[in-house]
Order: sequence, then C-alpha cells, then structure tokens
Amino acid sequence: MSSQSSPLAALLQRSTRTVAFTGAGVSTESGIPDFRSPGGVWTRYDPMDFTFEKYVGSAEVRAHAWAMRREFLAGAAEPNPAHRALAALERAGRGAGVITQNIDGLHQLAGSREVLEIHGTARELMCIGVAPTAGTPDGCGFRAAHIWALDRVDTGDVDPHCPHCSGLVKSATVSFGQMLFPGVIEAAVALVESADLVLAIGSSLQVFPAADLPVRAVKSGATLVIINDEPTPLDSVADLVVRGRAGEVLPPAVESALTQTR
Ligand code: NAD
Repeated sequence: MSSQSSPLAALLQRSTRTVAFTGAGVSTESGIPDFRSPGGVWTRYDPMDFTFEKYVGSAEVRAHAWAMRREFLAGAAEPNPAHRALAALERAGRGAGVITQNIDGLHQLAGSREVLEIHGTARELMCIGVAPTAGTPDGCGFRAAHIWALDRVDTGDVDPHCPHCSGLVKSATVSFGQMLFPGVIEAAVALVESADLVLAIGSSLQVFPAADLPVRAVKSGATLVIINDEPTPLDSVADLVVRGRAGEVLPPAVESALTQTR
C-alpha cells in the first residue's frame, strides 16, 4: 500500500490536534537501546540497583550511576526520522505536543518544542538535598548539564555534591521509587484529553501511570493509534495498530498528510 493511502496518513490528515506519546522504542533507531535490546545498557545495568532509596543511601551506588549515565549518553545519539517527523508535524501547526517517557532529550534536538518529559531528563542533573526522604527530591534548586558531574568524576570526585548546599546531586530523571515531578502527569493528562488523535509510539505500554495516558485519550474521545514493532496490552483498545519501526512508519505518513493538506 502506498503511504498516500495509508490509514495512518488519512488519520493524520484529518487531525488538527495530534499528540504523540513516545517510549524507548522511538529512540532505538538513534542507537539508544530500549530495556530489551540484546547487549543494550540495560542488560548490563539493572535499573533496580538505582532506586531512589539506594541512590540516596550509598556513595557506591551514586558512583556506579554516573558510570551508567556516561554510557547511556555516550556516542552523541542524534534524532532519527521518527523524532524529525513529529517535529515537522508541530511546525506545521498540526502536532499539539509530545509526551515522552524517554530521558534522552532527542525530541527537543529534533526541533519539537512542546515536550513533556514525564520521567525527566538525563541531560541535566539537580540537587536533591542532603537527606531526601519518601522518594521526593528536596534540593536547593541547583541544576546543571549532566557533563558537570562527569567532569568532576573525571577529576577523581566520584560522588560530586551540590556546590551551593553540599546536598546530593542526581540526574534530573525519575528513578524507581521516586515521585513523579509535580504537575507533569496532570499536564500530560490535559494534553491527551485535548487531542483528537493520539499516537503511542515505541512503548511497551507497561509502565504506569504513564501507560494510562493512551486509555485516558480514548475515554475522552480521541482516536488512538499504536505504532510498535511488537504487540502491546493496549492493542485491543486502539483504533489502528501499525506494526513496524517508528522511523520507517511515521515519516511517509506525516509527509503524505502534510502534502495533501497544502
Ligand atoms: P520499553 O523498553 O518497555 O518498550 C519499548 C517498546 O518499543 C517495545 O515494545 C519494543 O518492541 C518497541 N520498539 C523498539 N524499537 C522500536 C522501533 N524502532 N519502532 C517501533 N517500536 C520499537 O520502553 P518504554 O515503554 O518506554 O518503558 C521503559 C522505561 O524505560 C520508560 O520509562 C523509558 O523512559 C525508560 N527508557 C528510556 C530510554 C530513552 O530515554 N531512550 C531508553 C530505555 C529505557
């Protein structure tokens, strides 16, 4: 079937407010592995070794976490055609925003401006205070690019602390056992509920509460499309399931929809 007549292109063409909800699968074609990719970073580091509680409680865990962070952002990953297609949709006034579970910052690098990072960003770090409890960062407000910590690690300070208040510093991501940043999930719910079309792309749709967003979209009357290279638990509630690689599926459909609109 040509992309011009694809069901996805037709839905995109009719939509005036498309919202994308993306997971690790939108970045695998940029060389950043998802949780399952063989040989990927997550097959060598167990995320459960880096829970918020363990991070706060152990200098050794923090040193190990910086080593993992260096590996995660190594190789200067670039946005791929899927990220760029979503940015093009927004530039054309048809994409209302991207909600991502990813921490890699690639949507912004591709040019998307309305991006909600519900699990935070690995490109920055933040002060989380001297002894934060209950999964809630309690820092002084210090933030810096992640390279700030890696530079210190390279000069022998394997557990860098906040230069202002001597608190702990941590990637500005949401670790297991950490509360979501205030307001972000509410903003994401409002965004999907304002959409007429929601594209869930490259997510196994198993991590809650994030995976609840596509369900909220359907309940509020939006059309739901799932683009993933394997089945997901929400396939049965989607209006359209496209099985394939995001970087191959999205660009021709977006291009076709935008061309036919002009
Ligand atoms: P996941 O790893 O659980 O699922 C990714 C899904 O995408 C899988 O179903 C996989 O088959 C599919 N997929 C992989 N490559 C694809 C492609 N090119 N095209 C279409 N589908 C593809 O990821 P998740 O649902 O995002 O949840 C895992 C959690 O780990 C999230 O919180 C996520 O933020 C985090 N994580 C983030 C990154 C990143 O920032 N790039 C990487 C790994 C994990």
